[in-house]
Amino acid sequence: MFSYRHAFHAGNHADVLKHLTLVACLQYLAQKDVGLLLADTHAGAGIYRLDQELARTSGESGRGIVRVAAAAVQARAQGQTLPAAVQAYLELVQTYNLGSDSLRHYPGSPWICQTLLRPQDQLKLFEVHPTDARLLERHVADLGRGKQIELRRSDGFAGLRALLPPPTRRALVLIDPSYELKTDYAAVLDCLEDALERFPTGCYAVWYPVIARPESHALARKLKALSTRVQRPWAQALLDVGQAPTSGRSAEVARGQARTPLHASAMHLINPPFALAEQWRAALPWLSATLKEGPGAQWQVESGG
Ligand code: SAM
Repeated sequence: MFSYRHAFHAGNHADVLKHLTLVACLQYLAQKDVGLLLADTHAGAGIYRLDQELARTSGESGRGIVRVAAAAVQARAQGQTLPAAVQAYLELVQTYNLGSDSLRHYPGSPWICQTLLRPQDQLKLFEVHPTDARLLERHVADLGRGKQIELRRSDGFAGLRALLPPPTRRALVLIDPSYELKTDYAAVLDCLEDALERFPTGCYAVWYPVIARPESHALARKLKALSTRVQRPWAQALLDVGQAPTSGRSAEVARGQARTPLHASAMHLINPPFALAEQWRAALPWLSATLKEGPGAQWQVESGG
């Protein structure tokens, strides 16, 4: 059975990149009134406590969202304006930490989606880990939003098929596996290929770790090739925080790489919002400077189509 628990990693640099992107996409798509299908194929537990055991053990949020929030306070105190995407993401995270001096709660992707969900939208979540699925179910039930949010305890890759195309012909799909299984890399591509056949105009967002593994390098390349083959616009962003001097000490499991802290990850979007690449180009230099751990820190944005 799976051992990956997102609570260890909640609010780390990879979540910062992924969730900042998700907020930017959702805000853009909400400019049109027509209802949206939001699908999160690998949902996790929904919302996390940063002051409890799992997150404290890893300390990853301290080098992620906590650092971003502190740098934002400092920047504002110096009269600087934050990049718009950073500002929007931080504002959303802060809504779960009102009245608190420190960040105690961190919204995962289902929570970001439900925060920005409008009455005409639908949110479909998939999670297979028994503990996280139970937690997510409880969190969703507490929201009391009835059928607008649906959780399935089943494979998100397979489950997405039945959702596409959505009746309103508008969707944002987040594909964010743990890559605990080597087969996840190929499954992402198969899932996307099938989804694009069913619904070519959906906005698809894939997160992946950038690690020393052939499957990881190949995925970046294959995602671009797929986007080009189906003739859809795409955008890709990479954030590498560099190697920390204490490398190898902290993380329990970093996306399938036991005891090797993850230092780089990327997002690939197909049919991205028009301004996303520009928003990334404004935000990533600031994020990179803020989250830098050591040598090798860099960021990249590419787009095409
Ligand atoms: N998307 C979440 C977020 O950003 O807050 C984090 C998700 S975490 C990286 C990946 C999750 O996918 C884990 O909770 C894992 O249990 C779950 N998972 C793994 N394989 C799955 C599958 N085939 N279908 C659905 N969920 C799966």
